Amino acid sequence: MRFPTLSVAILAMTLTTTPSLAADPAGVHRMKLGDFTVVTLKDAQGMRPLDKLIANPEEIPNAGVKTPDDPAPLGVNAFLVDTGASLVLIDSGNGKAANGQALDNLRAAGYQPEQVTTVLLTHLHGDHVGGMAVDGKPIFPNATVYLERREADFWLGPDALKTAPESRRPGMEKAKTNLEPYEKAGKLKIFDGAATLMTGFDVVPAYGHTPGHTAYMLESKGQRLLVWGDIIHIQQLQLPNPNVSLVFDVDALMARETRKTFLAHAVAQGYPIAGMHMAFPGIGYIKPADKGYRWEPVSP
Ligand SMILES: [Zn+2]
Repeated sequence: MRFPTLSVAILAMTLTTTPSLAADPAGVHRMKLGDFTVVTLKDAQGMRPLDKLIANPEEIPNAGVKTPDDPAPLGVNAFLVDTGASLVLIDSGNGKAANGQALDNLRAAGYQPEQVTTVLLTHLHGDHVGGMAVDGKPIFPNATVYLERREADFWLGPDALKTAPESRRPGMEKAKTNLEPYEKAGKLKIFDGAATLMTGFDVVPAYGHTPGHTAYMLESKGQRLLVWGDIIHIQQLQLPNPNVSLVFDVDALMARETRKTFLAHAVAQGYPIAGMHMAFPGIGYIKPADKGYRWEPVSP
C-alpha cells in the first residue's frame, strides 16, 4: 500500500465546522479543511439484515459486540469539496431512481450540479456511481470524471459483461449507463494506480473491495483528510474486528488486508477519515480500542 507522504509538517489539528452549520439542512454537514470546505451529502440511511451483508458470520462473535444490531444501520454518504477554485464531488450516491438523496442535498447545500468541475469515483458499485446520469444525460455536465484503470476494466471493459457472473450484470449495466454520457463527451479520464489528480487530491490505491477501489487523500494547508470509500461498511463490527467481510467484497482477503493497513495507518498518522458508509456525517478519527479500533466522530 502506498500512501502519499505529507510535504508539510502535520499541524496539531482540530477540524472546525463552518459557522453556518446550525442552519444546514439535515442531510448536509460542512467542515473546514485548510482552505477547503468539505460538505457531506447524505444519500441514504437504511437498515440491512446482517445475514445479507456479512460474508463470514463466524467472525461476528470475535467483534466482542454482545448483541450486534440486526438489522444493522447502513448509510451512504457522498462528499463535495469546495476548494475555492474547483468543486470536486467524490462519489454520487445511489441516484434518484434508487431513492438517493445526494443530489437534493447538494442543492440544499447551496450548489448546482452544473457547478461541479470534477468527480472522483472510489469504485463503481451502484451506491457510488448511480447518481451520475439520468435518461442518458449527465447530471454534472461540466465535470471531468476520474476513474481507476482496474475499476474501469473490471466493470466496463469489452469482455466484462461476457465473463461476469449473472449476479454482477445489473451492476455493470448501471455503471455503464451512468458513465457513458461522460465517456462520449471525452470527459471520462482513467488513471492508473497512485497519482496526484490535482493539487490537494492524491490517489491512494485501496484494492480488494473492488479491483480498482480507490481512496483519496485531501490536503490543504497541512491538514489532511482521507476519503476512504468502502474500507468499512458496518462500523459496529468491522472496527472491533477488521476480519469481518462483506458479501459485496470482490476479493474479500485483499479487502481485509487493505482494511487492516488503512486502519493502522490512520491511527499512526492521526488524520481524519471520511467514509461513504460511516455514520452521517461520515467524518471522524480512528482510535485504538481494547478490541481493534473505535470511531470518534467529528462533532455534528
Ligand atoms: Zn458502497
